[in-house]
Amino acid sequence: MAAKAHHIDPLSLPFHPIPASTSPGAVVNLTVLNCGEITTRWVHFRQRETAEEMRERETGVVFAWVIEKQFDDGKVERWLWDAGVVSHPNDLGPTLAASFGPRFIFDVPPSARLPGLLEHLSPPPATLSTLTGLLISHSHMDHYGRLSDFPASLPVIFGPGTKAWVEAGVEQGRPIPKTFWEHPDWIGEVGEEGAKGRGKGWEKVGSYEYAWDWFGDGSLWLAQAPGHCPGHMVALGRVSTSPDTYVLLGGDTCHSRPIYSPFPSPSARWPCACWADPSEGPDAKPSHTMHLDLPLTYESIARLTRMEMEENVMCVLAHETEVARELGIGIGQMKGGWEAWKELGWKRKESGEPPKKGVI
Ligand SMILES: [Zn+2]
Repeated sequence: MAAKAHHIDPLSLPFHPIPASTSPGAVVNLTVLNCGEITTRWVHFRQRETAEEMRERETGVVFAWVIEKQFDDGKVERWLWDAGVVSHPNDLGPTLAASFGPRFIFDVPPSARLPGLLEHLSPPPATLSTLTGLLISHSHMDHYGRLSDFPASLPVIFGPGTKAWVEAGVEQGRPIPKTFWEHPDWIGEVGEEGAKGRGKGWEKVGSYEYAWDWFGDGSLWLAQAPGHCPGHMVALGRVSTSPDTYVLLGGDTCHSRPIYSPFPSPSARWPCACWADPSEGPDAKPSHTMHLDLPLTYESIARLTRMEMEENVMCVLAHETEVARELGIGIGQMKGGWEAWKELGWKRKESGEPPKKGVI
C-alpha cells in the first residue's frame, strides 16, 4: 500500500564517488530564476499531524535554472533547466484548469514567466536567441511552462520514460493533455539518438545508478530519479574545481526541505503529505500524494539526502522556498554566483532539530 511507504536510510544505498574534475574548465555556470510562487489551498507537501494542520496552506516557489557551458574550444551552450509555470490555471486549458484551479493559487506575474523573464533580467543570463535547448526535469505543468512561447526549433529533452507515460495519457485518473508538447519540432529523452549530448552511456555517480554525462566532461550529470512521476530526473552540476563543488538541481524529488534534510536519520525528517480532498467529505481517508509511486519516491529522496550528506554538494529542490527566502530571490528575480556557494555558506547548517511546524 503506497500510503504505508516511508523514508529509507540513505546510508543503505551504494555510493559511487563523484568523478573528480580533470581540467579547470570542466564546470557549468548556474543562474537560478524565481518564476513565481504557487500556494496550495491545503497541505500537499509534508505531512502534518492533525486534520486541522492538514488544512493549512503551503507556498512553494517555482525555480528554473540557466545552465551555461563554455567548452575548451570557446563554444558556449545555454540550456534552460525547467521552464516555469503559466500565470493562471485557466492558461493550462480546461482539463488541467479543472484539476488544479481548486487546489492551487498562482502568484506568477507576467514579468516572471519564461521565456519573457529572461529579457527582464539585467543582464539576462541568456536570451531566446542564445538558448541551445530545454532540459525539463519532468512533464508537470509547473516545469514545462508554456512551450509554445519558445521557438519550435529549440530541442526539448525529458528523462527516459516520459514519452511512454504521457502518451499512455492518464495520471491518477486524470487525462494528461499532450498539447503542451505539440509545439516543439522535436522532443527527446536523455540517452536516445539526438539526445545524447556528449555522453556515451549511463553511469553510476554518487547515489545515482543511472547518470548521463551531458557535456562529456563530468560538469553536468543528468540522473534518473523516478517516483514523483515516470521520467523524473535531477541534474548534478559541477560549479567549481580546486576544490570540486556541486549543486544538485533536485526537481520534485520531494517538495519541501524537511523531507530530505536533516541527514542521515530518516526519523528526523518529515514524511511526504498524504491527504484527502475536502470534496471527499470530512471523514475521507487520506489517499492522495504528490507522487505517483511513493515507495520509489522515498528511494529517490534517500538518494537526494545521501548527496546532501556530501560536504561539497548543495541540493536545491524546484520548490525549495527556503532557498528563495534565505538568499533573497524575489519573484521575477535571479541569482548567480553558485560557484562560491560553499565559501559563502549558502548551504544551511544542519541543526539536527526537526523543523518547526508551519514554517515554510
Ligand atoms: Zn513541481
